[in-house]
Amino acid sequence: MKVVKFGGSSLASGEQFQKVINIINADPTRKVIVTSAPGKRFEHDVKVTDLLIKYAELTLEKKDCSAVIEQIWSRYYDIATFFQLNSEQVAFLKQELLALPAAHYASADFLLAAFKAHGEKLSAQLLAHILQEKQLPARYLDPKEAGFLVSDVADDAQVLDATYENLYNWRETPDIMVVPGFYGITPTGNIATFSRGGSDITGAIWARGLQADLYENFTDVNAIYAADPRIVAKPHPIKIMTYRELRELSYAGFSVFHDEALIPAIQGQVLINVKNTNHPELPGTMIVPKKNFHPKNTVTGVASSKHFAALYLHKYLLNKETGFTLKLLQIFYKFNISYEHMPSGIDDLTVIFDKRQFTPSLREEMCAEIEKVIQPDQLEWINDYAIIMVVGEGLRNKIGAMKKITVPLAEKKIAIHMINQGASRISIMLGTKKADAPAAVAQIYQQFFA
Ligand code: ASP
Repeated sequence: MKVVKFGGSSLASGEQFQKVINIINADPTRKVIVTSAPGKRFEHDVKVTDLLIKYAELTLEKKDCSAVIEQIWSRYYDIATFFQLNSEQVAFLKQELLALPAAHYASADFLLAAFKAHGEKLSAQLLAHILQEKQLPARYLDPKEAGFLVSDVADDAQVLDATYENLYNWRETPDIMVVPGFYGITPTGNIATFSRGGSDITGAIWARGLQADLYENFTDVNAIYAADPRIVAKPHPIKIMTYRELRELSYAGFSVFHDEALIPAIQGQVLINVKNTNHPELPGTMIVPKKNFHPKNTVTGVASSKHFAALYLHKYLLNKETGFTLKLLQIFYKFNISYEHMPSGIDDLTVIFDKRQFTPSLREEMCAEIEKVIQPDQLEWINDYAIIMVVGEGLRNKIGAMKKITVPLAEKKIAIHMINQGASRISIMLGTKKADAPAAVAQIYQQFFA
């Protein structure tokens, strides 16, 4: 049995819905279909989820919502008319959209979550309706009825363990079940969403819960590529990779598959296949466990990410001072800041952060506290920092890979500010200046893939 998730661009229009229906029809083992909200049809289009956020904000501000409702509704109605459904046949969906402001919500955050979730909910209901019109044995399954339970955080929920047992009970259902992605129900009955792009997570949870043979994730690219196509022209499509490889690459910018969605898949050891809705005949990328994986290449992918910053601290005899790191960590804890890496030397230490956590004032306050408590000889905040990840199971047994990474960077006069080889030995992380990152990725890619 397969769980199949379709992304926003796969459900953006009537034409795209038709491709989705063809894919469902082509394989009777595709039993659970997870929908996203209609996404962008063209570059400057607006995703339905973003329109729903606007609808929620206007509702909270008690402002006129009619224009945005019209905009949202036209997206679904266009799809309905593509399948010759008239307004009466889909009136129940419009009603649901119009009724959102009148419902009771536990807080403004839960109101926002419920509005956002309706992008996927209406998509799933509409798709189930169209499949039924085509005489296919399909039904819409609501997360509440399914027992899809999540924690009580309105916009960043986590799945609850009970969900897996609840979903397993749907295994023998003969119908094709169309379920909305992106959200679940809290123990107190509220709708809570995952983080943005979270329909991938829903699909992975269903696949684990049902112990599916395969989780197919349909998107709008032919495969996961070995490097960002905006940096490297026509990069190598990855045929097969391990969970760990994708996890490390997602961390540094690969965004085809939501990194949180890997966790349920790993826990359930579910195979994942990322495929293109527009070219379903292509094999896409398989994501598999490490056992029985025999890497053909040394490197599977090279990623770079620019949302990092580094804090450099210098203090003589730092290595002899007890409790230095403890004090530093206590400061991070006090400011509710998590850090990513902390490579250290004899007299100095660099801490790398995800800089999206900071406002300028929070950063200043935290640095002032570090100056006061730690009294470093030098403190420097390096905002213009990028991380490059070179990832491959094949790196483990390869001697000399580091040379292939560093020599071409030296030739291009790209300075390396930090090198970190993780204990897993399947990834090498480099810190560079932000402006150098694309050239560094291109250089490293050339070495391993040209
Ligand atoms: N529609 C949601 C979003 O735009 C979730 C998803 O697309 O996966 O974030």
